[in-house]
Parts: sequence; structure tokens; C-alpha cells
Amino acid sequence: MPVFSGRLYLDPGADTLDRGPSPRIGAGRPRHYLGAFGDRPVWAIDMGETSGDEYGETEDGIEWEAVPLRAAYGRLDDASWGLAGRAEQIVAWDRTHAYCGRCGSPTVHHDHDRARQCPDCGLLSYPRISPAVIVLVTRGEEILLAHGRQFPGRFFSTLAGFVEPGESLEECIHREIHEEVGIRVGEISYFGSQPWPFPNSLMIGFTAEWESGELVLQEEEIVEAGWFGADALPPCPIGGMSIAGWMIERWLADRAPAG
Ligand SMILES: [Zn+2]
Repeated sequence: MPVFSGRLYLDPGADTLDRGPSPRIGAGRPRHYLGAFGDRPVWAIDMGETSGDEYGETEDGIEWEAVPLRAAYGRLDDASWGLAGRAEQIVAWDRTHAYCGRCGSPTVHHDHDRARQCPDCGLLSYPRISPAVIVLVTRGEEILLAHGRQFPGRFFSTLAGFVEPGESLEECIHREIHEEVGIRVGEISYFGSQPWPFPNSLMIGFTAEWESGELVLQEEEIVEAGWFGADALPPCPIGGMSIAGWMIERWLADRAPAG
């Protein structure tokens, strides 16, 4: 039973949510059913404003460690990380939709959907998810990697961008790539997807083949970009928990000599 309030409450030093510190830690607080984790039901608990303490213990003497979600990335196992992101987003959505966006009345939880409803005008609010495409562009034996302005240090990754209302994923890929680096891509293949809770995103991964054009960078977003071969990759997210890294790893594996 993981417990949450912008921070996760773990057993001190734990790398899993498999054993929450204590069901009593959030007694009386709003809670949201998340589904089953293994064979047990799991809730996210909105702890409200907390002291900010990193360590503490419950009234029944069970120790906990409070970990910000970002600090849990790379620390928690995959299943726990997915659950933590889900908890974060549902609690944040619930907190920010206490009033109707149309008429301002206090909202109530819907009987059976994960939604809040306005009792006066009927408006329903569901948790918001923002789809974003993330694209590994290939050109012959090279891939396109870029150093975004917001990246820390000298670090390169694949291109990504949010889908706009009324836009298909394919249209978004063509637009984003052309806007950010000036090239055109041809064939697009679906790779896979990954929820990303910073905030409310669903990263949808594709590979795309370069078709035409030279790199012309959109300087507000991209500091540096280039084509890299398998034996000369710059610092990039290989070996991590992000879909960008998985796409690069798959590309490398496809290149490795058989046997
Ligand atoms: Zn209303």
C-alpha cells in the first residue's frame, strides 16, 4: 500500500513499493484505488501538506522515508516506478479539480468512473494525459541525436514533442522533426510507449527514416544535433529506464554481428 503526497513513503532505503511502511500512515486522508499490485489491492493516499521531513515514523513505530518522485526514478523497480507515477498523477489531478472549470461549483467524485463531476452543471473532469511523440531518426548506419537546451550537461537524446489538438501522431512527427532540425523523414514505424509523470505525459516511441534535408537547428530548443554511428555515440540515455534509451539500445542490438 504505497502512500503519497508529492512524495512517496517507503521503507527506509527501499527500492520497491511492494511493502508500504504502514497502512496507518494515511488514516483518514483521501485515497484513490489504483488497481492490483501483485495479488494485493493498492491505493494512493493524498497526505496533504506534510512537514518535509525526509525520515520519520508512524504512531505505531514503523519507520518511513519520504522520497520525491523524481528521486525515485532509477531507484525503484520498474513495476513500483509505474505505480508511483500513476499515484502522483491521480492525486495531483484530484487536488486540482475540486471545483468545476465551467461554473466554479465544488465537484464530487463520480460513482463508478475515475472522474469528478459538477453537481450543478454536470461537467465531468477526467485525469488528463498529454501524448508526446519521441522519435529515433535513422540515416543509413547513423542515428540523429540532439542536445536539448533543457538537458543538464553535455547529453544527447532522441527528438520529442507534444501532440497538438487535432493532430495525428504521424503529423506530429513530421512537424516536430521539421521544426526542430529542419529535415524531412519518410517511413515511420511504431516502437512502443512509456508513461512519463513529469507531468501527465505518455511518450509514444517511433523510428523514422531520414528522407531529405540538412540539419538546421531550432536554436530556442536544440543546442547541438548530429548523426552518430554505433561506435561513436555521445553521452545518451543507454542503460536507463527511458524509452529513448530503449530505442537506441534496440538499434544497437540490430546492428551487432550475429552470434
Ligand atoms: Zn459546473
